Amino acid sequence: MLCPKCHSEYLDHLKECGDCKTDLISASPIDLPIPEMMWSPLIPFDGKIYADMAAELLDNNSIPYYFKMDWASSAFSIEATTITGQIVRIFVPKEHLDKANRLASSVTGKRI
Ligand SMILES: [Zn+2]
Repeated sequence: MLCPKCHSEYLDHLKECGDCKTDLISASPIDLPIPEMMWSPLIPFDGKIYADMAAELLDNNSIPYYFKMDWASSAFSIEATTITGQIVRIFVPKEHLDKANRLASSVTGKRI
């Protein structure tokens, strides 16, 4: 369910927006503009070098993305602080995920 006024999402059994006191409408996501992009992670990269190569391909294909480094693992292990030990994840909008994964796999040689 969705509030037509503030666009908050509610569970299906609710009938009224808690903030606006407006009747909720049931709306399929397809009918609505998506307020935020849905970000999906690509296959993880074993090191920033691969991630950088993949990012360049995404740039060339006009696919937006952002990086996320796995710093948590490196905080507890000396070995993991080397560049090659870093796990780098790239997030892309969900609608570009298939294409982005194909581009990424051409960099890493990994099968999806
Ligand atoms: Zn509302």
